[in-house]
Amino acid sequence: MSSKIIPVEEFDYIVFGGTGDLAERKLIPALYRRLADGQIVGESRIIGAARGEMSDEEYRKFANDALNEHVGKDELDPAVVKTFLGNLYYRSIDAMSDRGWQELKDLLGDYEKVRAFYLAVGPSIFGNIAEQLHKFGMIRERSRLVIEKPIGKDLKSAEALNESVGKYFKEEQIFRIDHYLGKETVQNLMALRFANTIYEPIWNSAHIDHVQITAAETLGVEARGNYYDTAGAIRDMVQNHLLQLLCLVAMEPPPSNDANAVRDEKLKVLRSLRPITGDKVMTETVRGQYKEGASKGKAVPGYLDEIDNKTSDTETFVAIKAQIDNWRWANVPFYLRTGKRLPERVSEIIIQFKPVPHNIFSEVVGSKSANRLIIRLQPNESVQQVIMIKDPGPGGMRLRQVALDMQFEEQFDTRAPDAYERLLLDVIRGNQTLFMRRDEVAAAWEWIDPIIEAWDTHSHECEEYIAGSWGPFSSVALLAGDNRKWIQTKV
Ligand code: NAP
Repeated sequence: MSSKIIPVEEFDYIVFGGTGDLAERKLIPALYRRLADGQIVGESRIIGAARGEMSDEEYRKFANDALNEHVGKDELDPAVVKTFLGNLYYRSIDAMSDRGWQELKDLLGDYEKVRAFYLAVGPSIFGNIAEQLHKFGMIRERSRLVIEKPIGKDLKSAEALNESVGKYFKEEQIFRIDHYLGKETVQNLMALRFANTIYEPIWNSAHIDHVQITAAETLGVEARGNYYDTAGAIRDMVQNHLLQLLCLVAMEPPPSNDANAVRDEKLKVLRSLRPITGDKVMTETVRGQYKEGASKGKAVPGYLDEIDNKTSDTETFVAIKAQIDNWRWANVPFYLRTGKRLPERVSEIIIQFKPVPHNIFSEVVGSKSANRLIIRLQPNESVQQVIMIKDPGPGGMRLRQVALDMQFEEQFDTRAPDAYERLLLDVIRGNQTLFMRRDEVAAAWEWIDPIIEAWDTHSHECEEYIAGSWGPFSSVALLAGDNRKWIQTKV
C-alpha cells in the first residue's frame, strides 16, 4: 500500500508462548510476510519460548506447518521461507521457575540490537516473565515488552497487572496490543480526519446526528468458551476494541502524530464519557446471550450448550448508548454493539450526518437525504461516503442514495496487510501510537466497571436472542427510543 518499504533495524523477537495459537495463526505468518516484503533485514531472529521440549529444527518444522496452514500458497516463496526458517530458534522455558532462562540469555548474547519480548501467554504469568527477565539481566535500554488483551477484568486487576510488568519495564517500553488499531481502515480514519480539510469542520454535533460502532461475529464461543465465560462481551470487546474506535472518531486533532500526542487526546475522550450508573444502566445498556438457532443456514447450539457452566449469565451481546460530555459531542450518542452468533461478520463505524435543514424536493421524488460515512474494518476494508444524487435519466427530479466507495484491495490492487504485520514492526520501530497507554486502559475500566457493577446490583439479566439474529429485542428498542435504528449495511 505504501510505495516504499523502509526496513526496520535488526531485532530479536522473543515470543513467549511461541507454540500457542496466537503465535501459530498470527505472529509467525505476520513476520514471514514482512520478511517477504523486504522489511526485515540482516541478522534478525525470532525465538520461540514455551515449556514444551523442542529443538530449533523441530520449531522450524512447527513454523513451516504454520506458514502452510495460514499463509496463501501464492505468498510462499521457497527461498524466503528458507531464510525465514533459518532465523528461527527455540528455547524451552518455564515462566514459573528458573528452567531455561540462562539458555535464553546465552542465545541472546551481548549483541546490541532491539529485543522485543512478546508475551503470547495467559496474563496470569506476565508478571513472572517480567521478573525473570529482570532477574537474568535481559532487560536493556532497547528492550520492549508486548502484551495482549485481556488486560485485567476490572480496574483493580488491570492496575495490578500493569504494575507487575511496570516494575521492570518503563512505560515507553511497554506495548499493549489492540489489534483493531493496526487495521488499515483504522489508520485511514486518522488520515480521513486529519489529512483532509473537508471533514473536520463538520465533525461535530452541529452536523453529526449520531455514530454507530458495530463489531459482529457469526461464530459462537466454540473452543474458547470457558475463558470467554469469565469475561463476556463487555470485557472481551467493549472495554478495549470498541472504546478505542470511539476514541479515534471522537478525539480532538492532536498537535502531531506522535504517540503521546495521540494518546493524550484519546485519554481526554475516555475521561469525558458520561458515567452510566444506577437505573441508567437498565435503559442505556443491553445484555444478551444467544440460544440455539441457525448460522449461514446451519443449525447451531446455544451458548449454554457450548460451555461447562450451564447456568451462566455471561453476555455474548452488548449494546450501549454512550455519550461524550464535551462541547464537540453534546447530544450526539455513540451507539456501540458487539455480539457473537449474529447474521454477519462485520466491524464498522458509521457516522450518520444530520438531514438537510430544509428539503426543497417533495417527498415523492425520492428518499430523504442522509449523508453517512461508513468505515468498514472487516470484511473488505473500505471507506464509503453515502451521498444523495439525482437518479440518472429523464422523467423529472428523482433522488437516490449512492456510495462513493473506496475498497482498498480493489483500488490499490494489493493485499490489505494483517494488523499484526504493522503492529509487530511498530514495536521494533519503537512507535507506540497504535498501542494503549496505561492511563488509557485505566480510564476505560473506570467507565466500564460501574456498568458491570450495576448489572450485578440491579440483577440486569441477559436477554436471550436467537443465534443468527441481530441480538435481543431491547437492542432495537435502545435506538427506537431515540427515533433511530441500527443501520444494516450490505456486507
Ligand atoms: P495458547 O494456545 O493456550 O498458548 C499458550 C502458550 O503459552 C503455549 O505456547 C504454552 O506452551 C505457553 N505457556 C503456557 N504456560 C507457560 C509457562 N508457564 N511458561 C512458558 N510458556 C508457557 O494461548 P493463545 O491462544 O496463543 O493465547 C496467548 C495469549 O494471547 C493469551 O493471553 C490470550 O488471551 C491472548 N490472545 C490470543 C488471541 C488468539 O487469537 N489466540 C487473540 C488475542 C489475545 P507450553 O504449554 O508448552 O508451555
